[in-house]
Amino acid sequence: MNDETEEIPFFYHPLENIEDVEVFNDAVERKHLTRSLSPERPYTYWTLELYDQKNGVRGGGGLGILAADTRRVAEQMKVPFALITPFYPQEVSQEIEDGKLVDKHKAVNYEDFGFKKIDQVFVKCCGDLCGLDVVEKKFKSTRIIGITEPNFGELYQGMSGSDHRLYQEVSLGFGGYAALKLLGLKPAIMQLNEVATFFAALARLDELAGNGMDFYEAMVYTRKHTLYTNHTLVQAAEAEFNREQFERFVFPNLKSLAVKKWLSNNFTNDKIKLSSVTIEIAEMRSGVSKLHARVANYHDLAGNKVKFKAITNGVDLKTWTLAETLEFYQKNGIYDSILMPTTDYSQNLERLSADKIRELKLLGRQKLNEILKKYHDHNGQTLQFKEDDLIFDFRRRLVDYKRPELPFKDPAKLRAAMEPYNAHYILAGRVHTGDKNMSDKLQQIFEVILKDDYLKTHVHYIPDYNEELAFGLSVGGNATINIPIVGLEACGTSWMKDVTNLDLLISTHDGGVADGSIKSYLYISGATEEEELDMLYSRMSEAAEIWQNDFDLEYAIRRQLDAFIPVASGARMMQDYLDYLFTK
Ligand SMILES: *Cc1c(COP(=O)(O)O)cnc(C)c1O
Repeated sequence: MNDETEEIPFFYHPLENIEDVEVFNDAVERKHLTRSLSPERPYTYWTLELYDQKNGVRGGGGLGILAADTRRVAEQMKVPFALITPFYPQEVSQEIEDGKLVDKHKAVNYEDFGFKKIDQVFVKCCGDLCGLDVVEKKFKSTRIIGITEPNFGELYQGMSGSDHRLYQEVSLGFGGYAALKLLGLKPAIMQLNEVATFFAALARLDELAGNGMDFYEAMVYTRKHTLYTNHTLVQAAEAEFNREQFERFVFPNLKSLAVKKWLSNNFTNDKIKLSSVTIEIAEMRSGVSKLHARVANYHDLAGNKVKFKAITNGVDLKTWTLAETLEFYQKNGIYDSILMPTTDYSQNLERLSADKIRELKLLGRQKLNEILKKYHDHNGQTLQFKEDDLIFDFRRRLVDYKRPELPFKDPAKLRAAMEPYNAHYILAGRVHTGDKNMSDKLQQIFEVILKDDYLKTHVHYIPDYNEELAFGLSVGGNATINIPIVGLEACGTSWMKDVTNLDLLISTHDGGVADGSIKSYLYISGATEEEELDMLYSRMSEAAEIWQNDFDLEYAIRRQLDAFIPVASGARMMQDYLDYLFTK
């Protein structure tokens, strides 16, 4: 991964214009509901999931990667920013043993990753007072604030409506809010990365109402300073908690009777969905791609459809792009010094020749081979690839809607799309703990490839997908396969890493990919899954052909970049959030 310590010499200009309230004063704030950023009033970002292994926190997938990227981009743009998240003292990894995937658990110590313990905060649970350690690590204008205790467990431990999850969510919300006070910070904005972080906004509402502010005024104030970012498409799919659980974990932490009453009124048949109350407590709501913001189907308590502002996710290009490729973009006026797309990037893409693409991909291939020395495939083999091997990859969380098994439905056709080009297919991804259906599907893939003597030696599954593999496969692969069932991917960011690293994108028109036009990449469509599959195989052959022809390669890569250079930029994403949150 790239070195993150290098200074970016430019101050981030738009922030200078943001009015800065020097001394916090409730009376002043009540009159002017303006939001302003300063070191003491940072942008606060709340998330149950962070994927940042360098800092000791391993998430499950895109949600956590996004959180880590958002903080890194804020650091590069000098935005005062605090990310509040659990520090999980346990972590899972996956290995293949006797042909079967098994989970391994290991302990993680925050001190090993440069976190310092600040103090303790307390939450009330089931009649007990629970002490939570507040740990902190600073990075220039940003910091990670971790909430932890030895029994905090793992990310996504237990079922989604379980006591343990509620305990983790309440600890992050109430504990995290108390931690901010301990550190002398007041949130300029609270961004809730999904509804599991609702309790942070609830803690704020309760503080204001509990300190004598009129409930409605407190609600208005909290609403004006809270952004709910949704990543899920259907409200119905979300977990519920029951009243009895709230009586043990939530109500004891509330001071204000009015807040208790409000929360209590939001139960239906003794159950509560956090999305319903998150919608009430956050005036600003965003979705993570244009398509997602349009189709996310959520309703408020009055039954009105919720509107989401579209702010497409981006990635931290410094982390995810090969350093040499990024340098090319910056030297040629494609990205500027803070990694925002330039106004004339489109024209400047003409400077990217097929020779340059091949030169950069060769460096990427070397990088991939270096990384792969540390890993092995499902046969226990260490993989190394030649300069001119063609690599297709499918690497992402292995969940149903992403359809990892689809390419293996017709092994003869898959072989026909690969063999003429001596292509390899790398499948990498973790199966969610307990997802029996997906581990069975993975077993079936192994069986299918075993029966074919070409696929047997040219399809490789690498277990325990992580950031390093994500980076290696982006920089060293040739064509990436992204085939979610249309309508189910909120955004997806893996493909952004591939596009900026000059891979061809073979994809259904979904999530953030649909921010671009279907002409900008190798899109897949079809009225049935069979049609989609046939198109996938022909797109794979087409991608292989493109790599054999300089003119086609130049054209296809430039066309992709033309559509996705702005989309992929994490700085663009941060700017979009700042514009949405801090201008009137
Ligand atoms: C980029 C990345 C993701 C993002 O996955 P999507 O499904 O594309 O959102 C997940 N996991 C890792 C390790 C990544 O690097």
